[in-house]
Amino acid sequence: MQEDSGTSRRPELTVDGYVEGVRQGDRSVLARAITLIESRRSDRQSMALETLARLLPATEAAIRVGITGVPGVGKSTLIDALGMRLIEQNHRVAVLAVDPSSSLSGGSILGDKSRMPRLAAEPRAFIRPSPSAASLGGVARRTREAMLLCEAAGYDVVLVETIGVGQSETVVADMVDFFLVLMLSGAGDQLQGIKKGILELADGVAVTKADDSAERVKTAQSEYRAAMRYQRPRSPSWRPRVLAVSARTGQGLDELWALVEEHREALSATGELEEMRREQRRRALWRQIDERLLEAFRSHRSVRQSLEEAEKAVLDGSRTPSQAASELIGAFRAKPSRD
Ligand code: GDP
Repeated sequence: MQEDSGTSRRPELTVDGYVEGVRQGDRSVLARAITLIESRRSDRQSMALETLARLLPATEAAIRVGITGVPGVGKSTLIDALGMRLIEQNHRVAVLAVDPSSSLSGGSILGDKSRMPRLAAEPRAFIRPSPSAASLGGVARRTREAMLLCEAAGYDVVLVETIGVGQSETVVADMVDFFLVLMLSGAGDQLQGIKKGILELADGVAVTKADDSAERVKTAQSEYRAAMRYQRPRSPSWRPRVLAVSARTGQGLDELWALVEEHREALSATGELEEMRREQRRRALWRQIDERLLEAFRSHRSVRQSLEEAEKAVLDGSRTPSQAASELIGAFRAKPSRD
């Protein structure tokens, strides 16, 4: 989203206005509140902090599901079909996206409403494209907070999609309860194109387009099952499962949602769900601290002045990295102001 988009022609909302509107489930206020948390303007950032703080007690009730897969695997078609089923079952569904490349391309394809036409026309659904930000950390923070806002607005299912560029699938897995990996079935070696480690994050794998070729899908399923057999489980009370789904025919979609619910029940019963969310909050805190400290460091005047020279000295071998780091950090500490 662009800075302040959606607010330019309308009167500015106060924090009370944001809080009330979100609480009432007003989609346009929700969209504006997300724009607020994405803002880089410091006055808007403090409004965002206050808005979120006041809404925090109304968050955390949703089922959070991350969905990843390569472009073309069928993410948007699946989200559209699954989302519609959930809405028929009286859920309210929010779709968010984490796309670190959106800051480069200037716009996101993930979470784009035109990719999910039925859901986009549905008043009980809310779709929001990936925030553009300079760093994956920035995208992650904004998406996490957007998720909380959606929860405060009464969405009880939040789907977060990503294409898994860089570390984005790790970031998404770390903000959801259930992480779903979508896989294509294909002729030949199924496992070849798989990004290393992605299956280790999966609570469930769904082989897509099961209507296409039943045989190929079966083979793919057993190959993924075999690949995951010896994996260290992420949770003692959950064994990831491999399903076949077709967004086109609806095959496997009820089974998929039943799996998500079964996972939630299993982890709730042992207290793991709450523990996992606590840990996610802890890591989110530390990511924020890391990120902000680094930002303050890089923008610090004396650091900026010496950085180039120090880096050059390290590159040509006349200073050790630790020596240069000590000097720079010394300069940062000596005068901790930004300018
Ligand atoms: P994304 O890039 O992962 O979001 O993938 P899309 O949802 O855009 O799907 C990519 C292509 O696969 C589109 O042409 C879809 O029509 C097609 N597709 C998606 N789901 C299914 C399915 O269940 N069956 C079949 N046969 N095609 C599908």
